[in-house]
Amino acid sequence: MFVLCAVTTIALQQSVADTSPFRALPLPAATRVRSSGGAPGPEYWQQEASYTIRASLDTASSLLTGTETIHYVNHSPDALPFVWVQVEQNIFSKQSVTYQLNQPPLHFAGGAVFDFTGKGFIGGITIDRFAAGAQDLVRTVYGTMMRVELPTPLAPGSAIDFDVAWHFPVPPYGGGRMGRVGNRLYEIGQWYPRLVVYDDVNGWNPLPYIGAGEFYLEYGDYDVTLTLPAGYLVAATGTVQNPTDVWSPAMRQRLEQAQAAAERVQIVTKAEATANGARSTAGTKTWHLTATNVRDFAWAASPDFRWDASGWNGIRINTFYRPTAAPWEEANRMARFTIQHFSETWGLYPWPHATTVEGLIEGMEYPMLTFVPAIEKREDQFWVLMHEFGHQWFPMMVGSDERRYPWMDEGFNTFIDYGAAEGYFKGTAYGDTVRRELLTAFGVSAVPGQEQPLITKPVEQRDLAWGAYQKPALMLTVLRDQVLGRETFERAMREYVQRWKFKHPQPADFFRTLANVSGRDLDWFWREWVYTTARLDQAVDSARAVGGDSTYVFLANRGSMVLPVTLQLRYADGTSDTRMLPVEMWYLGDRFTARLATPKPVVGVVVDPTASLPDVNRGNNRWGK
Ligand SMILES: [Zn+2]
Repeated sequence: MFVLCAVTTIALQQSVADTSPFRALPLPAATRVRSSGGAPGPEYWQQEASYTIRASLDTASSLLTGTETIHYVNHSPDALPFVWVQVEQNIFSKQSVTYQLNQPPLHFAGGAVFDFTGKGFIGGITIDRFAAGAQDLVRTVYGTMMRVELPTPLAPGSAIDFDVAWHFPVPPYGGGRMGRVGNRLYEIGQWYPRLVVYDDVNGWNPLPYIGAGEFYLEYGDYDVTLTLPAGYLVAATGTVQNPTDVWSPAMRQRLEQAQAAAERVQIVTKAEATANGARSTAGTKTWHLTATNVRDFAWAASPDFRWDASGWNGIRINTFYRPTAAPWEEANRMARFTIQHFSETWGLYPWPHATTVEGLIEGMEYPMLTFVPAIEKREDQFWVLMHEFGHQWFPMMVGSDERRYPWMDEGFNTFIDYGAAEGYFKGTAYGDTVRRELLTAFGVSAVPGQEQPLITKPVEQRDLAWGAYQKPALMLTVLRDQVLGRETFERAMREYVQRWKFKHPQPADFFRTLANVSGRDLDWFWREWVYTTARLDQAVDSARAVGGDSTYVFLANRGSMVLPVTLQLRYADGTSDTRMLPVEMWYLGDRFTARLATPKPVVGVVVDPTASLPDVNRGNNRWGK
């Protein structure tokens, strides 16, 4: 949005605007909070929200009831007379934008369907109490957001404890992200009232939860107890604090064994899971869990779970699934490979366990915990399981604003996913060609006049699979392979992860970090890929020999996107070689004569010979033989 404003400003100031593709990107000015090099500045701050939650689930009515203390610390320089609180269960209430608009579900390639309407289910959260210091606070609910008036403004540097009580019916179907299968499987996210992010860029961020746009969350610590029927097994964010109450001696002994195991140890076997599911166990059991420095907390429970576990580098890898989920026999190996691959490539996984649960949710991520369906095709099963774990890096570690910038979350994740799929399926046709999907998707989705820039908010995107997932993955692949080179690119991405781990980066922080670490001006690249729908059309017009040892190759840039050019020179004797020209070739305009030393007569020239670029017209990429 600020691109448009900046263009207007320039137009008012001078009669001729700079239209060069290499002109500076009008980023917001660097501050003491966000530095010009892209790192958090010396006065970087973010709010802290820590939660103590006591919840119990009545499986007869599927009613979840909880009390909660929110410890909120105001690290901002501003006094806050009120706070905004997310009440996301209200997506199922009649007051939500989602209910009122009743939009058709989001369909993704591969058949995944995300229906956020609840398919007619009407629910929503009831706030029984929202108090501070024994005083009930005045509140106004706007669908999925709630404004709460404070008794006195919360001064900079001070903290407040909110005392909250609530209950809601768990939807029979997941609204895309959470829900239940009868009373046999519960997958619970977006369940407790929590603070909206207050930051230095937007102040409060109470954009409604509609469905397509995900979350922007504060970091904090969690202390959670969950009371459930005694026969249910729980998988959750956090570490179990009362193992002897909730796990049998045999399970604890197997878990011990799993901690360093490269292959799965069956903590609950298929036979045991089937027997557990058939047994009715009286009474309840309370699970006590804690988690440090996370931006959310989710959990799942069922009497039917099988449980496999292994270990990598001190991290326990857990897979929970129902006995009917046959493809999940391999899931633990997939999960372990994934956590190791992402850790070694982008930065070490920071929490004690990585857990995934099979169930009704098509794919959703929470810190340390993901929800994934059983999928028959092995490659697709790996993809979804691995993708949800990729979110442990983006946005669980690097806590970007998903509600505005899905390309920094889904997009960065999809990019790293291709590396993981290439690794797991290395040497197979799928593993060696999977990344080509990105160019195929470009052909289908990058339709002039319909395509929207990546910077578009997710709820305004008509083709979210392209704009939030595939195009950003293609963008980073092009940046890595065609512009920066693998080593420089990976170094810059790792630095971005380290700088912004457990923090809130904005797009400018990412752009500045990549420029700062690589030493390259990339404003042109981000303008093309993020702020516009520029199209690439590189062409070779002709070539001619000069003297006995050189060739002039006449090149043109006919599209609105600039990129470096890779040329294949073909010689009369049937041999060829490849030359790469840096993007600076286009500084003086859209024509360039490459003066190349050539040992033999050139009879043919091919631009982008490996067809790695989204060139919209390949018909002009070839001259001669
Ligand atoms: Zn995702």
